[in-house]
Amino acid sequence: MKSNDYIKMEDKFGAHNYHPLPVVLEKGKGVFLWDVEGKKYFDFLSAYSAVNQGHCHPKIIKALNDQSKKLTLTSRAFHNNALAPYEKYVTKYFGYDKVLPMNSGAEADETAIKLCRRWAYDKKGIPENKAKIIVCEGNFHGRTITIISMSTDPDSFKGFGPYTPGFEVIPYNDLSALEKALQDPNVAGFLVEPIQGEAGVFVPDEGYLKKAYDMCKAKNVLFIADEVQTGIARTGKLLACDHEKVKPDILILGKALSGGVLPVSAVLANDEIMLVIKPGEHGSTFGGNPLACQVAVAALQVVKDEKLAQRAEKLGKLFRSELAKIKSDMIELIRGKGLLNAIVIKPKNGKEAWDVCVKMKENGLLAKPTHQHIIRFAPPLVITEKQILDAVKIIKKSLEAI
Ligand code: PLP
Repeated sequence: MKSNDYIKMEDKFGAHNYHPLPVVLEKGKGVFLWDVEGKKYFDFLSAYSAVNQGHCHPKIIKALNDQSKKLTLTSRAFHNNALAPYEKYVTKYFGYDKVLPMNSGAEADETAIKLCRRWAYDKKGIPENKAKIIVCEGNFHGRTITIISMSTDPDSFKGFGPYTPGFEVIPYNDLSALEKALQDPNVAGFLVEPIQGEAGVFVPDEGYLKKAYDMCKAKNVLFIADEVQTGIARTGKLLACDHEKVKPDILILGKALSGGVLPVSAVLANDEIMLVIKPGEHGSTFGGNPLACQVAVAALQVVKDEKLAQRAEKLGKLFRSELAKIKSDMIELIRGKGLLNAIVIKPKNGKEAWDVCVKMKENGLLAKPTHQHIIRFAPPLVITEKQILDAVKIIKKSLEAI
C-alpha cells in the first residue's frame, strides 16, 4: 500500500479527531523518520516531546525486549519485581519521597488534581467540596472532561459540557492576577505549565515561576507543575522549573518518561502530600506495569548518560540564532527554551503555518502547526550540531519557496 491508501483507510475507519500532515511513517531512528515510500525526514516534533531520547533508542528498546519476555502486566493487585526498583530510581532521580505511576499525561494531571483536593481537605482544612485550583489561560493538560473543564480553548471544551467545577482561570505570566486569586482561603493549588507548549511555546518572564511559587507558599497553596511536555531535558534542564530553582510540591511527568516507547506518566510528591491517598482511592490497571517500569528506568538513564539537558541547552541556542538569520517576512517571532521552540507565522499570499509545514515535509522535515499561526520545533535531543544546521537550511528553503 502507498501513503494515500493508508490515509484513505484511516479516514474511513478511524475517528476524525486529528488532522495529521499527509505523511505515513513506518520507521524511526534517532532524529529521523521514514515514510512508507522510503523518504527520510527530520523529526521536528518528537511526538510532542515524547521522543526526547530519539526514535527506537537501542538501550530503551533492549529494556522493552528483555522485560517483555518475562512479565508485562500483573496489575497492582500483586507486587512485581520491577515496580519497587523503578520507584526508588525515579524518586531519587527527581528528589521526591514518593511516586504514583500512571500512563498518559492526562491521567497524571487528573491524579495531581485528586491529590491536591484530598490534601486540601485532610491537611489544609478546606471545607468539603470547596477546594479550588487556580489554572492559567491557554493551558493544555489533556483531554478528559475534568481537564477540558479548565481549558480556555473552545476546540477543547466546546460542546462537551457539563463541566467539572472547582477551577479558577487567570492569565498566564500574570503575578498580580495570581496574587488576587490567592486571596481566596479555599484555594488548594496552582496548576501551571512552566512553558505553555500546546498554546504555542509561551515562555513566561524570567522570575515568574519563582515568584509564583513563593506566593503559593505564603498562602499554603500547592505549586503543581505540569512538566509533561517541558520535563526530562527538553528545555535545557532536567525540568523547566530547574531554570528558576523551583521545586514543585507536585510534579507531573509523562511523554519522554518512556522515550516515546510506551505511555508512561508519573506524579511525584513528598509524603505529606502523597500519603493522603489511601489504598483503593486511586489507581490504574496498567500504571506501574513491569514493562513501563523497565522502559522508564532505561529512558531516564539515557537522558543522564547522554547529557541530553546540556545538549538541549546548547543546541537550542544555536537553533534560535540560526533561525534568526533567515530573512523571511513570514517569520513574526522566534521563541523558546532549549529545544522547545516555535516560530509565529505571519500569513502571506493566503499561505499559513500549515502550508509551511507541508512545504517543509516535501523538503524532508516534519513539524506541525499549533493554533494555525505557530509552528513548534522540538527535535529529539540526540540531534547533532550538523543536523541542526541542515534542518535550518530546510526551514529556510521552505519559507523562501512560499
Ligand atoms: N500536559 C501537557 C503539558 C501536555 O503538553 C500534554 C500533551 O500534549 C498533556 C498534559 C496530556 O498528555 P497525554 O496526551 O499523554 O494525555
